[in-house]
Amino acid sequence: MLRTDRLTLAYGSSDVVHELSLTIPAGEISCLVGPNGSGKSTLLKGLAGLIAPRQGEVLLEGQPLSLWSRNELALRLAMLPQKPIVPESILVRDLVALGRFPHRKWWQRDGREDREACQQAMYMTGVEALAERPVTSLSGGQQQRVWIAMALAQQTDILLLDEPTTYLDWGYQLEVLELLVELNKSRGLTVIMSLHDLNQAAQFADHVMVLENGQIEAAGTPGQVITETLLARVFRVRGVVSLNAEGRPFCMGHGTSDPDRPCRA
Ligand code: ADP
Ligand code: MG
Repeated sequence: MLRTDRLTLAYGSSDVVHELSLTIPAGEISCLVGPNGSGKSTLLKGLAGLIAPRQGEVLLEGQPLSLWSRNELALRLAMLPQKPIVPESILVRDLVALGRFPHRKWWQRDGREDREACQQAMYMTGVEALAERPVTSLSGGQQQRVWIAMALAQQTDILLLDEPTTYLDWGYQLEVLELLVELNKSRGLTVIMSLHDLNQAAQFADHVMVLENGQIEAAGTPGQVITETLLARVFRVRGVVSLNAEGRPFCMGHGTSDPDRPCRA
């Protein structure tokens, strides 16, 4: 289980996340939502051990991340950043194979287990037919699936993703989210992702955490968290929240609620 204990994350002298204590439910899909600059990416990096806490801790199975070796941590937790940089001219299969590094000893070449893990990851993400293509020649949606394949080849039980849908068209967005749900259901993968679209968070998350100025404003099921009051208070949006056929909230924004914006009548 992954949790934080009075976690403070900062760049230079300014705190972005301040004394935050939260628990990520294991085996569930958790979504981080919040306005731009609220600290979602920073918190995800902190949870993945990519930035060290200024104070407090991130704990995996009760043990601070700083006490896990890089390799042990990479066997448990994979992180997909918002804009991963594609290594020049790398082929899909080679990028996916990078996910196997934590599983290998320095004297080993990739073995049967590695090849099978990569095959399975490419199969699950539907990129098998692209295996011999350079990653840079693919569309945004295809590239995103290749990155997810790489993370899956890592075979961790926790996957963190920073806005995995942002640069994708609508169909690909849903495809990526459906894939994550499928992996969560079939393998018990714990998913923690930031999403911009509240309706997608409402539709796909088991657990929603709303971040504002580095603080958790609300956390719970989509139905508990996504309310008209929240839209107005955190997102400055006037809107209506209704329930869809599955009983999940569905938001419709009518305008902004910020009376101080000079351009608004
Ligand atoms: P979000 O992902 O919710 O948009 P971020 O975590 O990216 O928010 O940013 C939170 C705050 O931290 C913002 O004020 C941003 O300007 C600042 N910040 C983010 N990354 C850095 C960085 N590398 N150096 C300095 N400040 C940063
Ligand atoms: Mg961000």
